[in-house]
Amino acid sequence: MTAWIEGRFEENVITTTLEQAMNWAQASAIWPMTFGLACCAIEMMAVGASRYDLERFGCGAFRATPRQADLMIVAGTVTHKMATRVRRLYEQMPDPKYVIAMGACTIGGGPYFKHGYHVVKGVDLVVPVDVYVPGCPPRPEALLEGIMRVQDKIKARKVTKGEFTLPVPHHEGHVRPVPIT
Ligand code: SF4
Repeated sequence: MTAWIEGRFEENVITTTLEQAMNWAQASAIWPMTFGLACCAIEMMAVGASRYDLERFGCGAFRATPRQADLMIVAGTVTHKMATRVRRLYEQMPDPKYVIAMGACTIGGGPYFKHGYHVVKGVDLVVPVDVYVPGCPPRPEALLEGIMRVQDKIKARKVTKGEFTLPVPHHEGHVRPVPIT
């Protein structure tokens, strides 16, 4: 769309679209919420530490309040008692917001699937999940991969053409499938 204008200005001038600029800004500054539910949270903490350095992706600013966070990483066993709290935290996050289900417990109940009467059999029963990161626990590299997939979803979002409305966009339907290259 901008091909006619590309390269027609001096060097050091960049032309882009509003959509690309907005998506790039959010994808490059995802703020996860600070909370963990069980052992998977230890791997999540490792991602934020120096060895894996989540800040390389612009996503290291873990927020202590849902009102400043746009990424919920559900890391650990979701019990029925905790599920209502997870839902409440999710609803307190501003739109647009994203959810990663990290680990077997979060995705489907994990080792508690058969006999754990107290465990929710998948956090997608509580909040809408964007990316699943399997494992028990997943390696920190796996969570990094999941965060990059969230960034792909944000970058593919259509800001124009009515698919994205400000200031409070709806959570569903903003994302085009990203072609696998
Ligand atoms: S998936 Fe495994 S490591 Fe993660 S919370 Fe469940 S039991 Fe713990």
